[in-house]
Amino acid sequence: MNEMDSLAKSFELLGNYKKRFAEAGIPKDLWYITEDMECQNVLSSFFMPGTGEIIEDRCLKLLRNHPRTKEYLSAHGYQFYDIETGEMVSVKKAAFCNCDEIIQQKQLIDKYDTIRRYRDANLPQVVRGKIPRSSINATFENFAEREGAEAAFEVASDYTVGNAPSILVFIGGTGTGKTHLLEAIGRQYLEQDHENGTPYTVRYELVSNMLRELRESFRIKSEESVTAHAYNADLLLLDDIGAEKPSEWVEQELFNLIEDRYRNNRLLVMATNEVEPTIKAKLGDRIASRLFDSETGTVKQVYLTATDYRAGIS
Ligand SMILES: [Zn+2]
Repeated sequence: MNEMDSLAKSFELLGNYKKRFAEAGIPKDLWYITEDMECQNVLSSFFMPGTGEIIEDRCLKLLRNHPRTKEYLSAHGYQFYDIETGEMVSVKKAAFCNCDEIIQQKQLIDKYDTIRRYRDANLPQVVRGKIPRSSINATFENFAEREGAEAAFEVASDYTVGNAPSILVFIGGTGTGKTHLLEAIGRQYLEQDHENGTPYTVRYELVSNMLRELRESFRIKSEESVTAHAYNADLLLLDDIGAEKPSEWVEQELFNLIEDRYRNNRLLVMATNEVEPTIKAKLGDRIASRLFDSETGTVKQVYLTATDYRAGIS
């Protein structure tokens, strides 16, 4: 059959089709699925190379709730009205649009991702019924103003808007508020998105815990990486670094983690009770040289001199 013949055949089929509907007394607006009966959701769009034209891929499936949908389905034999039961009975499966379901599924997935992102951040959670400090999550809003911490508060809030070097080190005694600021930065970043719209990931590590887990993993030769979250997160928080002297292998692991942030200009906030000589003695020259680097502009040391406010309220 040549092209002309096949075209003629198509017209003939179309003619028969129209005739059949006309004879059956089906109104014209039910002969085809009209544009308004189709879902116009844009599923994806892309630039046509060369022309720069935007091509949109639309859903175009039948809307379940359109006023003419039921009639259309009856007219086309998808369903019929059962006089005995008084119900519509489906015969053929219609290809309905399910955009609403897809949106709901996506919202569920987003919600789950958010829960997982907050869980993986590992930020200290509140313990109810204890002293006031531990009954709330540390944020910028509930940071109690205290003498000697004003500058640190400023630097911390600047940091969350990218207005600071990529590495911060809070240095100060117990109760000066450095851990509070560390956590506040973490919670602030969890609420923020990258420029491309993807949310920030955060990882908090109490260094003594992480070092213990590293020792354990070394001892039992665990394949599971203790530091995977710490490496992957956009922002890493290392709390109370220098509280103990680790083994050589663990020290190396800790150095690698810090060095990755240092070399690649990635976000890292640390808090320590210790001064430079103590860090040197406990964690070695290399880690100390990163924490107290004041020449490259990569690291900013922030000293907190406030007196122990926990002592003040007890
Ligand atoms: Zn749709």
